[in-house]
Amino acid sequence: MQTTEKIEPKLVKLKTCLTQINDLEAAASLLYWDQATYMPPGGATARGRQLATLQEVSHSKFTDPAMGRLLEDLTPLETTLPYKSDEASLIRVTRRKYDKAVRVPAEFMARLSRHRTESYEAWAKARPTNNFALVRPYLEKTLDLSQELASFFPNSDHIADPLIDFADYGMKVSFLRSLFDNLRQQLMPIVEAIVEQSPPEDSCLRQYYPETKQLDFTLKVMRQLGYDFQRGRQDKTHHPFMINFSTDDVRITTRVYENRLDQALFSSIHEMGHGLYEQGINPKLEGTPLACGTSSGIHESQSRLWENIVGRSRGFWKYFYPQLQTFFPNQLGNVSLDTFYQAINKVERSLIRTDADELTYNLHVMIRFDLELQMLEGKLAVRDLPDAWNERYRSDLGIVPTNDTEGVLQDVHWYTNQIGGMFQCYTLGNLMSAQFFEAALWERPEISTQIEQGEFTTLHNWLKDSIYQHGGKYTAAELMKNVTGSVLRIEPFIRYIHRKYEQLYSL
Ligand code: ZN
Repeated sequence: MQTTEKIEPKLVKLKTCLTQINDLEAAASLLYWDQATYMPPGGATARGRQLATLQEVSHSKFTDPAMGRLLEDLTPLETTLPYKSDEASLIRVTRRKYDKAVRVPAEFMARLSRHRTESYEAWAKARPTNNFALVRPYLEKTLDLSQELASFFPNSDHIADPLIDFADYGMKVSFLRSLFDNLRQQLMPIVEAIVEQSPPEDSCLRQYYPETKQLDFTLKVMRQLGYDFQRGRQDKTHHPFMINFSTDDVRITTRVYENRLDQALFSSIHEMGHGLYEQGINPKLEGTPLACGTSSGIHESQSRLWENIVGRSRGFWKYFYPQLQTFFPNQLGNVSLDTFYQAINKVERSLIRTDADELTYNLHVMIRFDLELQMLEGKLAVRDLPDAWNERYRSDLGIVPTNDTEGVLQDVHWYTNQIGGMFQCYTLGNLMSAQFFEAALWERPEISTQIEQGEFTTLHNWLKDSIYQHGGKYTAAELMKNVTGSVLRIEPFIRYIHRKYEQLYSL
């Protein structure tokens, strides 16, 4: 039995080591941010090599057997500390990540990383030219590699479980299947009742909106919602994302279409939601594996909460719409608040996930989730994927893509990552966001009126106290239980949808 005096220097050693790894990862993130924003195209080859080098160094540092011994030596200390303490959480979460990381051989990681770059390049050519045949051999190899990755975790109930676990720790296919089936059954009648009605007029969103004014307005909104520009910034990119280099430097990116108002606006609020989460992490966790969001689903719940539950609510626009009208008097001067509110919440059968409304969005996700499982289970070959995709769009959404660009080639995920675990987080996020918001209103009912007055501090502080500050200390399941007093449920989301859309449509 070691004494506490002998063990505590080991905790200091663990923290020092983890901070070095964190710094290597942050340097890689900065290189990636630059690649996606300002890097000239000529820099691509060297940048790919530099990123791979940094990733290899940080991975080998983290999976070094010395790290395993250090974690083992710290077990006695962990058991004496409260579960909720930063120290016990650090040891617990690091061990969980270490145990997963060491199962995957470094040689495989390097192979996967090289393949991802090649596959992404093929997809970037295939998507605009509607050429699935070009990317097919790459996707077939991705499927092989995804199955190989899963094989390093042989005791799983389902081949996709370990892949889902990377993004959403603790989630399993068996649970997600029944959750999604249940959700589908409750959603379909509402979706069908709505799409049968004549759609609301949304041409007001499709006029000429100059880029600089759009960006000025999004910055104004973000500032008021609580995003800290002393510790963040917004830049332009092709595929918007949030990224952090420390809890004091959390950046977001956006894209602007001058013929559409809703794209930059809601994508900025979405990424800002991710950013508020990371800006709100307790500074004491800085430089450790706890200084990040705890799972993809929880992260998505924060972006969707701000984007949809707040940002597409009538109360929000009651406050912001007159200001939006002064930014765009020619475009919106004669458009009423109700017309605008209906336009930004139009429900329709559509082909593109990222453009989908709050209701049908989940149907897009479930199609991808099911197809991932079928491919991993060996029941669906990559060559048959475009047909299977189109068939599911016909049966689930009543609409069929006319080409693969607006079908199976639309999302980057399978072409730059793996197959498996890529999409469940979006629907988990939608469900969690409603459950969190219900809990916030239960504790602080004044939040609804405050939103109408442009006052967001109470909600922001509630989220910071309940969710943001903890970073990665608690699992998604623990956080749901601690914050809402219940496991993840679909009812809050269904209640939210009913309340909102019964008012928007005659149901
Ligand atoms: Zn997101």
